Amino acid sequence: MSLPVMKNYIKGEWVESKSTTIGDVWNPAQGEKIATVPYSTEEDVDQAVQAAQEAFWDWRTTPPLTRARYLFRLKDAFEENFEDIARTLTTEQGKCIDEARGEVRRMIENVEHATGVTTLMTGYTLEDIAKDIDCYGHRQPMGVFAAIVPYNFPGMVPWWFLPYAVVCGNTFIVKPSEQVPMTQTRIFEIVDEVGFPEGVLNMVHGSRDVVNALLDHPDIEGISFVGSSPTAKYIYQRCGATGKRVQALGGAKNIVAVTPDANLEAGMPSLITSFFGCTGQRCLSGSVLVPVGDVADQLVEKFVAAAQAMKVGSGLDEQTAMGPVVSAAHKQRVLGYIEKGIAEGAQLLLDGRDFKVAEYPDGFFVGPTVFDHVKPDMAIAGEEIFGPVVSVVRTKDLDEVIDLINTRNYANAACIYTSSGATARKFKYHVKPSMVGINIGIAAPMSFFPFGGAGNSMFGDIKGHGQEIFHFFTDTKVVIERWFE
Ligand code: NAD
Repeated sequence: MSLPVMKNYIKGEWVESKSTTIGDVWNPAQGEKIATVPYSTEEDVDQAVQAAQEAFWDWRTTPPLTRARYLFRLKDAFEENFEDIARTLTTEQGKCIDEARGEVRRMIENVEHATGVTTLMTGYTLEDIAKDIDCYGHRQPMGVFAAIVPYNFPGMVPWWFLPYAVVCGNTFIVKPSEQVPMTQTRIFEIVDEVGFPEGVLNMVHGSRDVVNALLDHPDIEGISFVGSSPTAKYIYQRCGATGKRVQALGGAKNIVAVTPDANLEAGMPSLITSFFGCTGQRCLSGSVLVPVGDVADQLVEKFVAAAQAMKVGSGLDEQTAMGPVVSAAHKQRVLGYIEKGIAEGAQLLLDGRDFKVAEYPDGFFVGPTVFDHVKPDMAIAGEEIFGPVVSVVRTKDLDEVIDLINTRNYANAACIYTSSGATARKFKYHVKPSMVGINIGIAAPMSFFPFGGAGNSMFGDIKGHGQEIFHFFTDTKVVIERWFE
């Protein structure tokens, strides 16, 4: 049986890539190939940029409210196809169907937020900046923007940027992750039905060559990137060299602290989803569990019991609490870290290495894994594993926790479970990561707040969505004006 082949979407048409290099797309629960994806060429990228550039002027002169009306229609179309998008997402990415539904919901919320363009894109004015002279700043769209995105949120992440760019009057190109190209393809089928003007929204599949072609193309104004920190840094530097605007969100190693006065019973379900939700493949996943003082033994015992009780299986099964990791290669990488933790001398309390799901013997499963007595300088405490592997680092007090967090390589998110307002305040005031959860294990800002970290977790200054994103996608043109009598 021949597998579906992904196509690019350029100028309102589905077009085949000119590439002869083809990648495989997998169902990670079944360990089975389900589609193929072209690694598109520089020529394909150029075709998309030209289409986007040709569409720019008409779109840019379309009133913002008219542009927003396309998004209203898109929102309705997404709602109608909600379950289908979620199922496509789970099939290729592996996460549980409810997590996929949550992701699609967050995607739609960005479309909803962007429709506020008529208030969020406004500039500002001041009369009499000097005698009889007035001044005003307009926010103007700039041209063609592009997003390069990771595999772990194939539906939502492009939409942290796209709706805002487009509603501001820019045109756009998405480069999905080559590991999970089907979700965005399904989404672009819906885009196509809604009928945006040709060339306003485009999608080019592929890998590094597509990325480099986008980064170097002289007619692209800016890049929104989400992925691992080494790639984010590379993107940031190359955009600097080619003079583009850039926001590059990177990896993470998030610490979740628990104080002795925390309500463990109420907090445990969200602690478990923090560490094992999306099989640990979230930039907001808890990765290092940090008991403070004498809560350690009790916390670890309850946490391991809850982790062990999770049902692991296919994400399409409604009862599943944790699905597979995305690929065979990623499974090997995660297993490698478990071996490293053992070699480093951490105490392995729960071992997910030989985990089998009877119905899916070929799936890329790793069972929930917990290491206790991990030292801060061990690799499993500092490096991003991006799988269901938890490192417990015991601390004596809050100062030690804050110090641990602020001396890490990454600074994406940090969370604390506590019943003390004073503890929570000290924590949120002092920690460096810029997404903070208090009795919340996944500190995910919604579309109307900015999403992004600090340190090596984010290169650039303007983050994903929120209000500031309207600045990323516009240039402020200042007019200074006087009229003679
Ligand atoms: P990745 O960096 O491997 O890939 C991301 C994108 O960059 C993909 O589209 C890929 O094709 C491209 N790419 C990869 N290597 C490249 C290279 N050398 N040159 C040019 N392009 C390249 O990331 P991933 O494995 O797909 O995603 C997981 C990572 O993303 C994790 O590190 C995770 O923490 C991070 N992430 C961060 C956030 C955030 O908000 N900070 C959100 C989601 C995921």
